[in-house]
Amino acid sequence: MSAAGFRFDNSWAALGEPFAVRHNPALVREPRLLAFNRQLCALLGGDADAVHAQAADWFSGNRSIPGALPVAAAYAGHQFGNFVPQLGDGRAVLLGEVIGSDGQRRDIQLKGAGRTPFSRGGDGRAALGPVLREYLVSEAMHALGIPTTRALAAVLTGEPVFREEVLPGAVITRVASSHIRVGSFEFLAARDDVDSLRRLLDHALARHYPHLAVAEAEPGGAALALLRAVAARQAALVAQWMAVGFVHGVMNTDNCSIAGETIDYGPCAFMEAYDPATVFSSIDRQGRYAYANQPPIAQWNLARLAEALLPLIDPEQPRAIELATGVVNEFQGVFGLEWQNRLGAKLGLWTVLEEGAAAAAGLPKAPATACDEADAQLMADWLALLQQHRIDWTNAHRALCHAAEGDEAPLRDQFVDREAPSAWLARWRARLGQGSHLATAMRRVNPAYIPRNHAVEAMIASATQGDMAPFERLQRALATPYDEQPGMADLARPAPTDTAPHRTFCGT
Ligand code: AMP
Ligand code: MG
Repeated sequence: MSAAGFRFDNSWAALGEPFAVRHNPALVREPRLLAFNRQLCALLGGDADAVHAQAADWFSGNRSIPGALPVAAAYAGHQFGNFVPQLGDGRAVLLGEVIGSDGQRRDIQLKGAGRTPFSRGGDGRAALGPVLREYLVSEAMHALGIPTTRALAAVLTGEPVFREEVLPGAVITRVASSHIRVGSFEFLAARDDVDSLRRLLDHALARHYPHLAVAEAEPGGAALALLRAVAARQAALVAQWMAVGFVHGVMNTDNCSIAGETIDYGPCAFMEAYDPATVFSSIDRQGRYAYANQPPIAQWNLARLAEALLPLIDPEQPRAIELATGVVNEFQGVFGLEWQNRLGAKLGLWTVLEEGAAAAAGLPKAPATACDEADAQLMADWLALLQQHRIDWTNAHRALCHAAEGDEAPLRDQFVDREAPSAWLARWRARLGQGSHLATAMRRVNPAYIPRNHAVEAMIASATQGDMAPFERLQRALATPYDEQPGMADLARPAPTDTAPHRTFCGT
C-alpha cells in the first residue's frame, strides 16, 4: 500500500512528551465515506484518486497511512473563564503533518476517533450531524476567504453514538496549519515546565512566524514578538468573522489557535437579523461569547497567552508583566482598525482586497489609521439602522451592492417601512465615489450565501436519513459564496419568521 503521494514529516510527534502521547485511533465497525475533498487532498500533496480509494479506511482510523505517526496532543484551557489544567485531544488523533504541493506544512487530524488518554468522561466519538456541520461550515469559511481549519473527509463509522438520542457515529478529518492553541502554552506554564515552554515557543515561531526569529534581541524577545503576532492574527480573524456574521460560540482558550485560524466548529452559527447580543449556544447563558463580545474575549484569551509566556519574556516578572500588558492593551486599537476597514469595505468606502483587485476596483485602499469622524458616523448609523429594524446582516449588505448600481429596491424591500433607510442612503450616496466597479468590489466582500442555520439543520436531518443531496447542494452554493447562482435563491433567505430562535449545543 502506498502513501498515495502524502509526504509526512511529523514534527509535533517528534517533540514527544509532555507535548503529545503516541496513540492510535480506535477501529470502527463499518466505515463508509460520506464526503471527500479532492482539491484539498491535492493541496496536501496527495493523489486524489489513490487517496479516495483508501479514504474510508484511512479516515476512519481503521488502517494507518504509511508515514503517519498518530498522537494525542496535550493542552489545557480556560473554559468559560475557568482554568482546566489538562484537556488535550479527548477524541481527536493527530495522524501527522504533511508537506503540501505548495510547500506548506499542515496537520491531518481525525476527530471522533475514539477514547484517548485525555478523554476524561467522554466517549471519544462524534455524531454525524456535528461532523457534517464542521465539514460544511469550515469549507464555507475557507471559500469566504477566512482563515480556518479545513475538512478533508467525513466517514460514517457504522456505530451508534449516544447523546440525548442515539445518533450515527462519524469521523471528520480536519486539516490545520497546526493545532497549537493558547491552551498548549497554558498547559506547560501551569506545570512550571519552562524548558518545554521554550521548546513550544521555538516550534510555534518556526512554524507560523519564521520571520520573527530575529526578534530574539528585542525587549521581551521572541516570546513577546509571538504574542504580538498572535494578537494581530486574532484581531484580523475576529473582524473577518464579524464581517460575515459568524458567532464562534465557544471561544475558550483551548479553541484559540496560535496560527490565527478558526478552529472547533461546535456551537457556531451565523447571525441573521443584526443584533450585537446574538448568542446561539444553549450553555452560554451570560452571552460571554455573543457576537459583539468576540473582540474583548479574543483579548482576554491573549491575556492568558501573555501570562503563560511571562517566564520567556523577562526573568524579572514585573518587567515581563509590563511588556506583556503593553501588547495585550494594543489589541483594542488593532482590532478597531481591522473592523473599521472590513465594515467600510462592505459599504464600498474603500477596499481591503489585495493590490491587483484593489486597483481594478478603482477604490482607495483601506486607511492605515482611524478614519475621519464622518465615515465613522456613517458606519455607526448603518449598524444602528440594521439593528433597529432587525434586518438580515448578509442580505442587507448584498442589497447595498445593488444600491451601489442605482437599484435601491432590494434594500428597501427588507424594511417594513421602505422609507426607513432613505436618510442614510442619501448620506451614503453623497459620500461614495463614482467608480463603475464599485458594486463589483462590494460583491467580493459581501457574500450572497452563508451557511444559514436552518439550511444546515435541514441538511443534517436529511443526511441522518441517508440523503446527502442537500449537503452536496449547500456545498456547491457555498463554494463560491460571492456569486449568485441559478436555482439557489432559497439558500439566501433567512429562516422563516415563525421558526424558534436557533439554539446550538456543546458536547457535540
Ligand atoms: P471542545 O468543546 O470540542 O473544544 O472540547 C473541549 C475538550 O473536551 C477537549 O479536550 C476535547 O477533546 C474534549 N471532548 C469533547 N468531546 C469529547 C468526547 N465526546 N469524548 C472525549 N473528549 C471530548
Ligand atoms: Mg476544542
